[in-house]
Amino acid sequence: MIPGYYFFRGRYALGHFLKSLNLPKDSQIAIQAFTCVAVVEGIALSGSKPIYIDILEKDVVMDPADLLKKLTARTKVVVVQHTFGRVADMNQISALCRERGLILIEDCCHTWSSKSGSKEVGSFGVASFYSFEWGKPVIAGIGGFLRLNDQSLGPALVKHLHAEVIEPPLFRRVQLELQYIAFRLFFRPKFYWKLRKLYHFLSKGRLITASYNPSGEESPESKWSMSKWARLRLKTFDKKLARLKTHSSALSQVYDHILGAFDLPRKADGVFAHRFPLFVKNKEELLKLASKKEIEIAGWYDSPIHPLKGSELNKVGYLEGSCPNAERASSTLISLPTHLTISKCEAEKIANFVKNYGN
Ligand SMILES: *Cc1c(COP(=O)(O)O)cnc(C)c1O
Repeated sequence: MIPGYYFFRGRYALGHFLKSLNLPKDSQIAIQAFTCVAVVEGIALSGSKPIYIDILEKDVVMDPADLLKKLTARTKVVVVQHTFGRVADMNQISALCRERGLILIEDCCHTWSSKSGSKEVGSFGVASFYSFEWGKPVIAGIGGFLRLNDQSLGPALVKHLHAEVIEPPLFRRVQLELQYIAFRLFFRPKFYWKLRKLYHFLSKGRLITASYNPSGEESPESKWSMSKWARLRLKTFDKKLARLKTHSSALSQVYDHILGAFDLPRKADGVFAHRFPLFVKNKEELLKLASKKEIEIAGWYDSPIHPLKGSELNKVGYLEGSCPNAERASSTLISLPTHLTISKCEAEKIANFVKNYGN
């Protein structure tokens, strides 16, 4: 495991790093649309505002041309997201950032190991951030991680963190351990849809906290570190990642083989597939049927800033129509699982389901 700093969540890793940069008050942070509200929450913590860059057509990563078009004098930072482990065009984006004096950060919450050429993601910008929660490649429980590539920024960040970040309270740590145990016991393909429904039910009733905070107010969690108990699970990080890489590439091959005729984002070398994305015309109908037949396929993201819809999008500064590719992807993209609880046989079942009912 590379050295870095731990936070209660990935979004706070981003937030604290941005805060430590002491940007001017009205600064803008460029992020891609077709993302989740967690990134927006991280930016909000720093007091800056997000601006939204479209993704490439038929892909899930930032369009460098749209980035160039939308930059303003107030844009100070670009956060590049490697969605589902697919790598953004780092040559073009890095060059643009250098030219314009922009700070480059990578959102690696979907990958630890994808490569662009011979260079691993997470090493292009001044910093990159990661997450260990349930939907991410390496799972250790709720937690986030910041990797710092520009060590000259270290002292400012450490000073800032010393003033802010503490271990979560004991009751929360116990609750998190119970949540992790429940996850290990019940996160199985046959429970997937039942768990989703249960999760939504519980988070509405506030019995568990949903992974986004719609109120917009600063959460006390932003001041916490990743629990030290959860961090213990990272002792076997290298082994976990190696297993995952082999497994996800085997499952991707199964999907690729059966679904080759579908509209897949173009292939690239060195890609670690956190999830396997593809476009279908009947997304909504297909997901409904998958829920009925208990087939694990996911619809995220189903809005340009998942899970916000309608006027909620305006509240975070997203103008409808401003990122047409992201909007189209939200209504046509599904993703197939590549994580460890899916066997090859299960993957074949999922792929055949999509082949039979998707179009
Ligand atoms: C999950 C995720 C995050 C943030 O993760 P948390 O640990 O939940 O804050 C950020 N960016 C992307 C793309 C993610 O999927």
